[in-house]
Amino acid sequence: MKHYAVFGSPIAHSQSPRIHAAFAKQAGIAMDYVAIEADLDHFAGALAASGVAGANITLPLKEAAFALCNGRVSARAQRAGAVNTLLRDAHGWRGDNTDGLGLVRDLTERHGLDLRQRRVLLLGAGGAARGVAPALLDAGIHSLYVVNRSPARAEALVDASGEPDRAHARAWDALPTMGEFDLLINATSASRGGSLPALPMALAGPRSTAVDLSYGEAAVPFLAWARAAGCQHAIDGLGMLVEQAAESFALWHGQRPETDAVFADLSGRSDALRTAD
Ligand code: NDP
Repeated sequence: MKHYAVFGSPIAHSQSPRIHAAFAKQAGIAMDYVAIEADLDHFAGALAASGVAGANITLPLKEAAFALCNGRVSARAQRAGAVNTLLRDAHGWRGDNTDGLGLVRDLTERHGLDLRQRRVLLLGAGGAARGVAPALLDAGIHSLYVVNRSPARAEALVDASGEPDRAHARAWDALPTMGEFDLLINATSASRGGSLPALPMALAGPRSTAVDLSYGEAAVPFLAWARAAGCQHAIDGLGMLVEQAAESFALWHGQRPETDAVFADLSGRSDALRTAD
């Protein structure tokens, strides 16, 4: 039996073991998948000691996982500078990043959104933001405005996108003058250890969609703001979580599982969920 795991900190509330167990059952594959708590200092040692054939990587380890692959990463992981999926082969670790595809699949296939020509605001420039930005650009959005608490990280994300005409970094205090967006994405972890600075209502309108990459309690403040600002749709990160997991599963096992039943099961319990991967 092959072993898999998700590494991160905090990790106790991760839904990934439940999701991958459901996928494995569906596919008739014998495997186990556990959550392993590891901070930056202990990640490499914990990974080596675990004996896993593949792993998911979450906050705050995605950039460390990228470095651990020594350049053996997919094009999308290279553009993101972050790895959320590790695959072991004879030469060591290879890295990929399925976060962006997971978000785009959730928005377009589950929620029926057309991303083409959309004006998009991305709050945050950490590992998750770096994963989703290239996928949004590839999905044909009109423009991407990245706003981050530490401006240099927003600028680095935009530079790495290689799309100077469509991707722009802006300072947080520019938000009041940035106009209305079709899609607003909260890719910060603010609700874990503080709160987002106040957002101007003028950022959203009746045709806007707001997405928080977190889910459960962590997504409540931003999605409440989105509803108050009049957004047409307010979506949490549960669907993305299931879709990015399905992409990782496909990389490891060569078959993409059906996700709707797993999403429905988790949605029914989402009020009790506290963290996203
Ligand atoms: P990182 O630690 O890599 O980045 C955190 C980001 O949040 C940074 O941009 C940071 O800004 C910003 N931030 C943190 N606190 C605040 C605050 N108080 N005010 C403003 N900005 C803040 O985390 P990830 O990018 O990996 O994860 C971000 C979120 O996305 C998490 O909630 C995670 O659970 C979720 N996620 C969901 C996934 C899913 O499948 N649904 C997949 C991946 C992530 P700065 O750079 O200034 O520190």
